[in-house]
Amino acid sequence: MMKTSTPLGAAEGKPGDRSAFSFETQTRLESRSDGFGKDGARYGRTGTIHTPHGDIQTPTFIPVATQGAMKAVLPEQMKELGAQCLLSNAFHLFERPGDEVVDEAGGLSRFMNWDGPTYTDSGGFQVLSLGAGFKKTLAMDVEGMKSDDIIAEGKERLAFVDEDGVTFKSPLNGEKKRFSAEISMRIQHNIGADMMFSFDELTTLMNTRRYQEQSVERTFRWAKRCVAEHRRLTEERLGKPYQALFGVVQGANYEDLRRLAASQIASLDFDGVGIGGAIEKRLLGQTCAWICDAMPESRPRHVLGIASVDDIFSAVENGGDTFDCVAPARCGRNGAVFTHRGRWNIKRAQFKHDFEPIEAGCDCYACRNYSRAYIDHLLRAREMNGYTLATIHNEHFFITLLADIRKAIEGGYFDEFRQETVTHFYENGSRG
Ligand SMILES: [Zn+2]
Repeated sequence: MMKTSTPLGAAEGKPGDRSAFSFETQTRLESRSDGFGKDGARYGRTGTIHTPHGDIQTPTFIPVATQGAMKAVLPEQMKELGAQCLLSNAFHLFERPGDEVVDEAGGLSRFMNWDGPTYTDSGGFQVLSLGAGFKKTLAMDVEGMKSDDIIAEGKERLAFVDEDGVTFKSPLNGEKKRFSAEISMRIQHNIGADMMFSFDELTTLMNTRRYQEQSVERTFRWAKRCVAEHRRLTEERLGKPYQALFGVVQGANYEDLRRLAASQIASLDFDGVGIGGAIEKRLLGQTCAWICDAMPESRPRHVLGIASVDDIFSAVENGGDTFDCVAPARCGRNGAVFTHRGRWNIKRAQFKHDFEPIEAGCDCYACRNYSRAYIDHLLRAREMNGYTLATIHNEHFFITLLADIRKAIEGGYFDEFRQETVTHFYENGSRG
């Protein structure tokens, strides 16, 4: 068993020592006349996040262990392929096995035998995406709703937002449940990840401008309540390591709303910032820069849920330090593999007799030991090892990509590296 090391800044009878968490910048990207930040600044940087469970070199990719586990891959293997930290889902752990169980086990890293830093998201995304399928329909009242706020036809509405929080029907057992700022904080404290996110309201690009405005203000009110409850729980839960709290910036595609939300979140005593919500692909870099304009440099910035190669470069250039996404694992289980020559499906007929590795030169465990033909066979036969090998390769691809970007920023060749990587990745018309 991989022994999880003792967290820093935890002392019996004392609240967690906040100094065990910090961010240190190492190298900044140079400004450019076309930079999106203040005076052409480019907020891209390399750095180190110090946490009670160890350091994270940034920028980095964070694999998603939704239910306290990577599907089909053990923590030891995640370590071996270069993962520095894992992100789990507060909502799913609250539903099952229950956040008290994780607390009783000594916190998330010990519970899942992961010797390193962990994140949890607030549960807001999961709760709110129960709205009505993926056609977003979460409005506080029906009055004044436009067609784009209407419930997707034939879908049962499972979540309702009010000023205090969200009421939803559990997808696990159909029970009616509540989430709020305070409940999310309690759950995330029980789970005990090193980094947590404040409870925010997720909107989509389909919501009306007026709704987005109200939602940004509501998210700010919830953020204040999260900070207060977080402080109270930190004081109350003695002997635990300090947990850092990240505030989430919403505001969809609107520059003024993003800037407003960023200044609101920057004004509160958060340890880091999460860049969340729906963002149109073409505005991703600018949106990150608008937020960084308002944000103290000492706060690490997490970009929630993106994993396409060109988006990662845009977000890193404009200040993103950490990234998480379920896509590498989910795609891998369906046979889609990411390589430097694009994303393609290993279950195509042409690979049946192909005994080469997924990607020549890849030093992941799957490519060092197994062929395309074998992995294709396993996936078709629905053998678990097929999921394991494809997931190992894909997670390794994104972790290595971010590690290489880090080297490129350190070495002063970020722009050249981006040009070359993006060109090769998309030259065959690849998605992803
Ligand atoms: Zn590989």
